[in-house]
Amino acid sequence: MKTCRKCNIEKSEDAFYKNSKVRGGLHSSCIECDKAISKKHYWADPIKERKRSNKYYVLTKEKHKEKYKEEMMQNLLLRASVIG
Ligand SMILES: [Zn+2]
Repeated sequence: MKTCRKCNIEKSEDAFYKNSKVRGGLHSSCIECDKAISKKHYWADPIKERKRSNKYYVLTKEKHKEKYKEEMMQNLLLRASVIG
């Protein structure tokens, strides 16, 4: 048994997420509390959260485009040198 630091309720070990980084190997707060926290975090500002992930998506997309362009150029140069 382990006492949750958030709700102060004593619960069995499987009511906690495992966390190898902490002593005892278990999260200090129970799964229910952890879920409530992440939900609260999201719903506190869902638009901001969505924008943030969208921005990340656009960024990676741009990066991919750049990489693709680079590869295309290299391929062209390679082919040109072979033919030339
Ligand atoms: Zn709890």
